[in-house]
Amino acid sequence: MAQTKKNFDFEELLNKHQLKKTAPRLRVLSMMSSKTSATSQPDLEEVMSDVDRVTLYRILTAFEEKGIIHKVFDLNGTANYALCASNCEENHHHDEHLHFNCVECKNVYCLDDMHLPKLEVPQGFTTDGVTVYATGTCPKCNKKKTPK
Ligand SMILES: [Zn+2]
Ligand SMILES: [Zn+2]
Ligand SMILES: [Zn+2]
Repeated sequence: MAQTKKNFDFEELLNKHQLKKTAPRLRVLSMMSSKTSATSQPDLEEVMSDVDRVTLYRILTAFEEKGIIHKVFDLNGTANYALCASNCEENHHHDEHLHFNCVECKNVYCLDDMHLPKLEVPQGFTTDGVTVYATGTCPKCNKKKTPK
């Protein structure tokens, strides 16, 4: 179920991955879980201006390696990060869902419920992951566009 994302126990999550519970780590997790769209590094830097960029970068890299967050790109080619479904493991992500790029607000949404079919690749190829992007307009921007 996609809704489990919001109920993550962050401290337990860090414990499980043998990461120390530090305030910046917990803040990154809580910020990402509070948003419906993925979070870009510049967004994080803005909110966490008291944390230096190197620390922030290390947090993101560690989270990605541990299978806590995954990277998605927005239409500008900027890396965004989103929390993973609970079945991601260290160095083994299972984020085969549709990513939706909104052309209006440039946000990237993880559509967790839209699972991608397993790809049949030619012999000799092994697949680590599949990323599919859809572009269009998100519900928020669609609402703004509709005349009252
Ligand atoms: Zn993942
Ligand atoms: Zn939008
Ligand atoms: Zn995603």
